[in-house]
Amino acid sequence: MFEALRQWRRKQVLKSAAIPDALWDGAVGQLPFLAIYDDDALARLREKVVLFLDAKAIVGAGGHDVTPLQRAIIAIEACVLVLELDLALYDGFENVIVYPGEFVPDWEWEDDAGVVHRNVNPLAGEAMPRGPVVLSWPDVEASADWAASGMNLVIHEFAHKIDMRDGDANGCPPLADDAARRDWQRVMRAAYADFCARVDAGEDTEIDPYAAENPGEFFAVLSEVFFADPLLLQHDYPYVYGEFTRFYRQDPASRQR
Ligand SMILES: [Zn+2]
Repeated sequence: MFEALRQWRRKQVLKSAAIPDALWDGAVGQLPFLAIYDDDALARLREKVVLFLDAKAIVGAGGHDVTPLQRAIIAIEACVLVLELDLALYDGFENVIVYPGEFVPDWEWEDDAGVVHRNVNPLAGEAMPRGPVVLSWPDVEASADWAASGMNLVIHEFAHKIDMRDGDANGCPPLADDAARRDWQRVMRAAYADFCARVDAGEDTEIDPYAAENPGEFFAVLSEVFFADPLLLQHDYPYVYGEFTRFYRQDPASRQR
């Protein structure tokens, strides 16, 4: 019964909130890494985007007006991760907040000695636990073209969101069972240690060295590489690539070849 209702509601949304062709084509045109997607995958991505935009509000802050094209670009990049997964992975928050530039988040935290710190460093993006995803539009725009920037801010922040579904952003997203978690941890720990050693040795890695920051950042950065430059991840960390194909249920390298 609930499933029937869910399907009915899904059809209503897809009918009533469809994205105009010109807007869709314009947004896809801004994201060259989508060139490896075939028509079938793009059609399914478009459905996901319509459902995502129905569920989330992408709103401007700090004087920024979000244009329909910006909204579509952000939604497409967010939906790339969940193309073959349940959109419910993004439940638990309603807003994506877009600033006209880097922003200073207004949160505070207490250290072990009980001293309260205030963040003063401007950020390009942030995924708040049980809260919104916050983005700087110029940084979204600059990272839309993977070949030019070697990063993708929106994929990065939404990977954190998926990671946070089962607690902290610790680099381990919600997995099916203990065996899957053990395999995941074994592969990710080995890859993370190797990557940190490469960065420490001063190697000019093609993968953003920010991935060495902590296991949560490692997962977010490698998720960017998985979707936008899959052959690079498959080459550098084939076992991580394998874990990601099982988790995300996609094999982007097979599209790129
Ligand atoms: Zn991050």
